Amino acid sequence: MRILVANLGSTSLKWRLFRFADGGEELLHKGGFERVADYPRAIDDCLAALRRGGAIETEADVDAVGFKTIIARGVDGCVRLTDPVLAAMEAYNGLAPAHNPPYITGIRLFARRMPRTPLFGLFETAFYQWAPEAAKRYAVPDDWHQRGVRRWGFHGASHKYIAERSAQLLGRDDVARRARNLYLDGGTTPVRTPDLRVISCHLGGSSSVTGILNGVGVGNSLGMSPQSGLPHNNRVGDLDPFALGYVMRSAGLSLDQAETALCQASGLMGLSGGDNDIRDIESRAAEGNARARLALDVLIHEARRWIGGYYLQLNAIDALVFTAGIGENDPLVRDGICRNLDQLGLLLDPALNQSARGRETVISAPESRVRVLVIPANEELVVAREVKRQLDAAA
Ligand code: ADP
Repeated sequence: MRILVANLGSTSLKWRLFRFADGGEELLHKGGFERVADYPRAIDDCLAALRRGGAIETEADVDAVGFKTIIARGVDGCVRLTDPVLAAMEAYNGLAPAHNPPYITGIRLFARRMPRTPLFGLFETAFYQWAPEAAKRYAVPDDWHQRGVRRWGFHGASHKYIAERSAQLLGRDDVARRARNLYLDGGTTPVRTPDLRVISCHLGGSSSVTGILNGVGVGNSLGMSPQSGLPHNNRVGDLDPFALGYVMRSAGLSLDQAETALCQASGLMGLSGGDNDIRDIESRAAEGNARARLALDVLIHEARRWIGGYYLQLNAIDALVFTAGIGENDPLVRDGICRNLDQLGLLLDPALNQSARGRETVISAPESRVRVLVIPANEELVVAREVKRQLDAAA
């Protein structure tokens, strides 16, 4: 069985093709295009690249296409992307303006280009379906709650991969199995004692922190929209809701202008005064730029605030995991986050931290009770596995 996972941006198309055979899973091909002006042509070129690379002979060899979809009203988990599901995504366009519209457009183009191939979406909110209600609830009037105003959480595919992979690395195959089967059985796969408690930090263009108990998400720092929680590259993170009305009235901004400022000129970019890539921010901070240093400090402070919350909720932890572009590659941010935690049993090994870039490794000191791990993100594999499960169930 071959499953294509397509990652859709407004001007980018990236893909990975997986083959599942005889209980094994294999990445057959990966590629992508940036600065795409003609999306239908980019899809043609993707399929041509798969044929040229020998990953498929004909397009009929692609059994399904999976998408890491973000959020839809009243829909969660891994589902077939029918017209009603696309309409439910459209209903929440305002919550994920950078993500939902390009996904809807791209999915429609794939459906037109590959009419006989089933298309599935694994929603990024899916990992938190079994989190405690208190972790998902905003203290708003009930009518707002009924309209969907709640802490949904995102980055579900990434944190689910960490839930499973960290358990394997910590010698807990039982917990890894529970994480793997989560969307099948709702976290009822039996596990041994003691509990395995992990905090996963996905730090990248978007960032979030998640607590994981025995392979199941107990909450996520992202809230109703992917604009909340930690500061992101150019999106705001958590903000007092009354700041919005205040700035609109005092600076004379429309709602659209205020939302655009929060989505495009805030986060690390707003703090640093123009940079949204952590590498540029770090080089300016090293040159003594105070705003760049502040951007790093806020990111680290906010990450620690969420880690602290899950640390308490989980009653201490066995492992802290770093993943995604910043988490995998940035010793400075990891060091800042792990500073001064010896009383909580966490000690980083400076040399291991310094040399860990983009590969799976342990970066805590041997005497650290909490293991600190770097695990490269593998969200597409999680999507492909869930799509395979859907195809198997339908067979
Ligand atoms: P996204 O959330 O958009 O998928 P990524 O997980 O790819 O993003 O993370 C992108 C961010 O990771 C970049 O903006 C940059 O700040 C950071 N990053 C990428 N590579 C490196 C690196 N080698 N060193 C430090 N930071 C990096």
